[in-house]
Amino acid sequence: MPTPSIPVSATVADLRARVGTWRREGRRIALIPTMGALHEGHISLVRLARETCDRVVTSIFVNPTQFAPTEDFSTYPRTFDDDCDQLARADCNLVWAPGVREMYPEGFATRIVPEGAAEGLETDFRPHFFGGVATVCAKLFLQVAPDIAVFGEKDFQQLAVIRQIVRDLDLPLAIVGAPTMREADGLAMSSRNRYLTADERRIAPLVHRVIAEVAERVKSGISVDAACADAAATLTAGGFRSIDYVAVRDAATLKPYDPAGGAGRVLVAAWLGKTRLIDNIAI
Ligand code: AMP
Repeated sequence: MPTPSIPVSATVADLRARVGTWRREGRRIALIPTMGALHEGHISLVRLARETCDRVVTSIFVNPTQFAPTEDFSTYPRTFDDDCDQLARADCNLVWAPGVREMYPEGFATRIVPEGAAEGLETDFRPHFFGGVATVCAKLFLQVAPDIAVFGEKDFQQLAVIRQIVRDLDLPLAIVGAPTMREADGLAMSSRNRYLTADERRIAPLVHRVIAEVAERVKSGISVDAACADAAATLTAGGFRSIDYVAVRDAATLKPYDPAGGAGRVLVAAWLGKTRLIDNIAI
């Protein structure tokens, strides 16, 4: 194996020794949790962290507990050497890359089960998902003990769930949300975009166009139900195989949207062939 272009920790003990040194030096530390297969969206999180922190740790761990048996855990793209090169170029200081046995040793039997922001939307279609995310992120926060962790708004419900967990469990770090990075045609960057065929890739930006339209129509007073139903019909007519949801929610609580209340968010999940795309946009 070629020498990685950036230091890599593969055990909790090694990670704690390295981060402990920085902590004793008084460094401000950021964590960027990822599943690898990095793209410019992930790298934007590293850059944002760099603005306020002296040291940036990026974790790369494809977390088995957030995939259902029918999902793509075994085929999820793994591009570790390229990820390390990108992170080195972005001035990241350390890659935290535990194996599954390091993260979940023999006898591991604890799970955090978030409610509140985790209810509905993704949970209606991936009921195992947020329990897996919550548990692994709590572990990552306790392993790295960062001052901040940066998450993308691309996974908007996930960001809300993480904020809730940190608040509810008094975890001593700040969560920072980062804007969604998009391709030139509006498609939100995602590790799973590489599953798309050339035809599907041409159709995929429709997801962003329809939610932008829902946001405009709701702003102009059209009912949420009508705007969402039209968006789902447009996706189906455009070649999407199945629509999990098009929904408008309160951006802070993810409860049903009240136009007279706080800011709203349009969220979508839809299947294009074998690929599930998610996206969201502010109202
Ligand atoms: P993942 O590797 O897909 O689990 O994502 C790791 C982190 O990167 C999460 O906080 C995501 O929300 C964030 N992320 C993924 N795609 C994007 C994007 N297009 N723009 C900004 N952040 C993103």
